[in-house]
Amino acid sequence: MNTHFSKSLETLTRYQRYESRVVNIGDIPLGGNNPIRIQSMTNTDTMDTAGTVAQTIRLVEAGCEYVRITAPSVKEAQNLGVIKAELKKRGYTVPLIADIHFVPRAAEEAAKLVEKVRVNPGNYVDRKRFQEFEYNQQEYQAELDRIEQRFTPLVKLCREEGTAMRIGSNHGSLSDRILSHYGDTPQGMVESAMEFVRICATNQFHDLVISMKASNTRIMIQAYRLLVDQMNREGFNYPLHLGVTEAGDGDDARIKSSLGIGSLLRDGLGDTIRVSLTEPPEAEIPVAISIVNSIKNIAQHAPIEPLKTLPINMFEYQRRKTQPLSIIGGDQVPVVIADLSQTEGGLDNYLTEAGYLFDLMSDTWVAGDQGADILYFGQKDTEIKLSENTLCLYDSETWSNSETQDNTYPLFTLESYSTAESKHKMANFVFVETSESIGNLPGDSGIIWLLSSKNEHQMADLRRFILELTNQGNTQPIILLNRLKDERREELLLAASAEIGAILNDGLSDGIWLRSSTLSIFDINELSFGVLQASRSRMTKTEYIACPSCGRTLFDLEEVTAQIRERTSHLKGVKIGIMGCVVNGPGEMADADFGYVGTGPGKVSLYRGQLVVRPHVPQLEAVDSLIELIKSEGYWVDP
Ligand code: SF4
Repeated sequence: MNTHFSKSLETLTRYQRYESRVVNIGDIPLGGNNPIRIQSMTNTDTMDTAGTVAQTIRLVEAGCEYVRITAPSVKEAQNLGVIKAELKKRGYTVPLIADIHFVPRAAEEAAKLVEKVRVNPGNYVDRKRFQEFEYNQQEYQAELDRIEQRFTPLVKLCREEGTAMRIGSNHGSLSDRILSHYGDTPQGMVESAMEFVRICATNQFHDLVISMKASNTRIMIQAYRLLVDQMNREGFNYPLHLGVTEAGDGDDARIKSSLGIGSLLRDGLGDTIRVSLTEPPEAEIPVAISIVNSIKNIAQHAPIEPLKTLPINMFEYQRRKTQPLSIIGGDQVPVVIADLSQTEGGLDNYLTEAGYLFDLMSDTWVAGDQGADILYFGQKDTEIKLSENTLCLYDSETWSNSETQDNTYPLFTLESYSTAESKHKMANFVFVETSESIGNLPGDSGIIWLLSSKNEHQMADLRRFILELTNQGNTQPIILLNRLKDERREELLLAASAEIGAILNDGLSDGIWLRSSTLSIFDINELSFGVLQASRSRMTKTEYIACPSCGRTLFDLEEVTAQIRERTSHLKGVKIGIMGCVVNGPGEMADADFGYVGTGPGKVSLYRGQLVVRPHVPQLEAVDSLIELIKSEGYWVDP
């Protein structure tokens, strides 16, 4: 029986995979106890048979188990048959998935040729007009009837042909009808898919896979939780396809993808995943495999005490209420701690790695936009001039023996705290492990907990401890302390993003302290701020919402993304969408402040939010024009 989210709290503290039904997609079954499947999408022109076949083979060789190919119209849908035949000739039987938007006839054609079709319920029948409509009950029902009429032939065809279907809601492309009733919300995403699911069920078609993708990880996670809750209520258990859309490229995209996908996998949700990178599709596969591997031992985790009550709503974001102590807690953004206790020689280089700049005028080190808020020196005697808003943390004994205690704070173990004669009058940092009994912890109002877990299911263990503290009315701030295991850089980055990011995403932490014996201070600092940004807890850099590109793409996305990044990467908190086509681009970048969207060969339209403000700009002038637009809207600062 599925107990995720709606029926019991058990799965919040015990790893248990969601019991989805098995759906056969070609000869690779999905869901149930089958392995979590890896998939990706080609970005070649679907009419380029040789290019698409070659890229599909590269994906398969990298470990991809299903390959999605766009079918914007009937002719591309028909060419899927040619691609399939060519793959078969070369000995590849990988299941193919047709990606459909807007064109039911293309879906119906593809359903006869490939193993699965993906439809977007936001645009399968409705054409989005980016206008606000008011729907009364009758009008709403009339649209549902129209959808049923247009969608049912595909459902019947899939049932007859043994073709599976993904109903994939995207946060950015909900229909005007759904938006009018639910707004641009996780509830809207769920209802958008469920309307189609119900039509399938009425027609006894159950080879379904469902997805709820968004670029905003908070929305994405909430939408999947709500979907599972809603499916439980209606007696469905279709497998889940997980993904974060338009994640962009590089480390930030990997952090964001792992945060969204990895945290849901840890809660037992997800049967297949796709990591969307604005990089060659083959680059997505090792990332996806690492995300899946990061939970390979989770089922054997040590028992975690169950929760009796849940003090938060898992379907809505709310920051845990804590008392502000100095720059930590309350409504303040989560802080980052950098560990400088193991450094050798002078500190200058290490401070630079921790995001500090030396200010000649004041003769002090000043934190930049991504400067760690708290520097931990352990037992080191430091004589370094730091700006007033940087806190320095020392082991308690070193702190109590030091002469100058301005802006310095002590760090205790639980034991040393209970026996200490000298404590800070305002704030004391205390290590605590999740294995401690909460009832025995001191309730002093000046404590900031540095919370860590040794459990294999770290996310659930940390979360349980914080929720239990909250249940007891405790408002002491909590900083998550994550000791990164000695693994490769990318694996560390992916695991930490999921384990720590998930807690931030639920508003349960006032800061993070990542410690590693293998990563540099620079890497750890980048990762820390990356996780805060990906969880939308603290925006310290420009956010790029770049599509992964596909057969519809009208320009070189990787190259253009690099050009835009080079000119705008200093614009803290500004969100820029870079989308390959006008069909889906504007919707997919729902969250962006500015958009760069391909509208025709050599032509780009620039958006302010969801509005086209500079249509059909020649591509050669488009990056300059985007910069001008950002300036004219008052979002520009000089680098
Ligand atoms: S927005 Fe990008 S990935 Fe999505 S359909 Fe258009 S070109 Fe393809």
